[in-house]
Amino acid sequence: MTNARRTQSFSESVIREMTRVANQYGAVNLSQGFPDFPMPESMKEAAIAAIRDDLNQYAITWGSKKLRNAIADKYQRGYGMTVDPETQITVACGATEATASVFLALFNPGDEVIIFEPFYENYGPDAILCEAKPVFVPLVEPDWHFDADLLKKAVTPKTRAIVVNSPHNPSGHVFSRSELEAIAAIAIEHDLLVITDDPYEYILFEGEHIPMATLPGMAERTVTISSLSKTFSITGWRLGYAIAPPEMSVAIRKVHDFLTVGAPAPLMEAAAIGYAYPDSYYKQLAKDYRDRRDYLAGPLRDAGFTFATPAGAYYFFADFSAISKDDDVTFAKWMTREIGVATVPGSSFYRPGAPAGKKYTRFAFCKQKATLEKAVEKLAKLKQLV
Ligand code: GLN
Repeated sequence: MTNARRTQSFSESVIREMTRVANQYGAVNLSQGFPDFPMPESMKEAAIAAIRDDLNQYAITWGSKKLRNAIADKYQRGYGMTVDPETQITVACGATEATASVFLALFNPGDEVIIFEPFYENYGPDAILCEAKPVFVPLVEPDWHFDADLLKKAVTPKTRAIVVNSPHNPSGHVFSRSELEAIAAIAIEHDLLVITDDPYEYILFEGEHIPMATLPGMAERTVTISSLSKTFSITGWRLGYAIAPPEMSVAIRKVHDFLTVGAPAPLMEAAAIGYAYPDSYYKQLAKDYRDRRDYLAGPLRDAGFTFATPAGAYYFFADFSAISKDDDVTFAKWMTREIGVATVPGSSFYRPGAPAGKKYTRFAFCKQKATLEKAVEKLAKLKQLV
């Protein structure tokens, strides 16, 4: 028996693989982006209460009413964006499932989807699963902006959508209002969808998060995807969502229903309370991440890595070419084994075979101070070894 062809053109997630490699060598795991500190206590209690209260059966397929209302409220209060929780929100098992459901619901085989490169590794396989074609537009160093002319040139009669991830994984770039306006203008001119993936919207150090759907003429052509994983440090709860115009939501909900039936009922109930946390929760979240970023940046530079200081999200996308001439996979595996710090090789964020990623490695700093201190201690050895 042979496996389906569609599975042959993408490989296992390197991000998840590096966590396994880190565990194998007992390395400090700065690869996969998940926090190693506790989630908010009150949300844990709410989950325990929901389970005790027997909220243990399927919720409504597209998400518990309480969570959808909380999400709608979040957009109204935070961004002045009106969203109907009854017809526009689909809660899914993480932004990962939300994105796959959106692609499967909205793209036909042969459609082209524009993705800025480097990119979070899921978009490529998501496109392949629905037989759409990913088309890549480079983000340009050192600040990872995009060139509007290159974006325009990438549009063909088959183009259906542009994917925007801001704050950006892995570069930390936060798309400015003028960048978003340039994307919006191209989308409107060519009648394209924009799919935004915003899981780091509250992990922001410079600039502001502007939902694409709030720009003039964009609400009807934008799908807003986000996640609760990073905002509430609950990556294992698998909660994310897609907000789309009602007619698109009908299709997204159908796909989501047959993939997973729904997200975990007691966890949706509990997570809803998070969006009612006061502003101080979100300020503290961003401040703690800023402290972690500022703590790790110096030692990484001292070790010889170069990078643009991230304006958002929780990664350093670091050029290691001053340290080693190895390719990224060799270097990341060597560093895990010999130095004891695991990272994600840069090529995971580029199309297969693209040379551009080979001089980068990605450090995640969503870790408690003690973990980062241990990493810094180990990284000090780098200079002696190379
Ligand atoms: N988004 C996180 C990362 O880039 C986690 C990825 C995952 O494993 N779902 O590392």
